[in-house]
Amino acid sequence: MKIDLHTHTYYSDGVLSPTELVQRAVEKGVDVLALTDHDTLMGIDEAILAAGPHSIKIIPGVEVSCLWREQTIHMIGLNVDMTHQPLREKLDGVLKDRQERAEQITKKLTKFGIPGVEEGIFRQVKGVPGRLHFARYLADKGYAATPGKAFKQYMARGKPGYFKSEWMSLAEAATLIRDAGGIPVIAHPRRYDLTLKKITSMLEEFKAAGGEGVEVATTNQNKSDQIIMARLAMQLDLAMSIGSDFHEPCAYNELGKASFLVPVEGRLVSDLL
Ligand code: AMP
Ligand code: MN
Ligand code: MN
Ligand code: MN
Repeated sequence: MKIDLHTHTYYSDGVLSPTELVQRAVEKGVDVLALTDHDTLMGIDEAILAAGPHSIKIIPGVEVSCLWREQTIHMIGLNVDMTHQPLREKLDGVLKDRQERAEQITKKLTKFGIPGVEEGIFRQVKGVPGRLHFARYLADKGYAATPGKAFKQYMARGKPGYFKSEWMSLAEAATLIRDAGGIPVIAHPRRYDLTLKKITSMLEEFKAAGGEGVEVATTNQNKSDQIIMARLAMQLDLAMSIGSDFHEPCAYNELGKASFLVPVEGRLVSDLL
């Protein structure tokens, strides 16, 4: 079974439509695919429709931005009820905040002397605007070699396009996902600016707030990261998840690419779906 529980479309900062994403997943032999756009459920209906003639199973999901001790944490909600009103209302609010944030970032970069930002972002965004849209525009116009480099040079803390974001709290995000019938999972735990000790504290708080899983197999998490995270998941009684965090066709990531590199004991998030 090929399982991928973390992917994006052009409704957040991915580049494929939900239909293209599902088609690509089918081509790559993915059996279970969760669509988890940042702070939105916009692409899910289309993904389910596109999956119709195929045997692939679509899990409705979302990647919620939240804060723990000033650090932005990404929490995946799997199998959420898309009609759950409090979830929809909260995500509508986040969309407005993100649109306002995009306007502020546009002003900052324009003031810094970069032309055409508003138009460049407007052309890309179909749903939720994010910092990667700005990074792609900057790279496209030659202000940085790659979007990744543009991110570091322009969008990170202390850089000309930085804007502090006020997300909901970690506990609030876990409760929101639980109340919508979903399974809360911490995304890419090794990608935060947190020591292992702090990751442990964060996961403990997450578990106490109703959290159920943590990603152990993600594309950029190597074998030793996986060993560390699998142990921690066991210790804290969290289920282990697997997701590529696919955003676009590229050399270093693919749908269904993330896999357990070590034999894992313990519960799997995919068994809870
Ligand atoms: P946002 O949610 O708008 O603050 O943007 C966060 C998103 O930007 C992440 O989900 C990634 O897709 C992307 N991102 C974050 N850091 C980097 C980086 N160093 N290089 C490329 N993309 C990044
Ligand atoms: Mn992203
Ligand atoms: Mn993320
Ligand atoms: Mn993601």
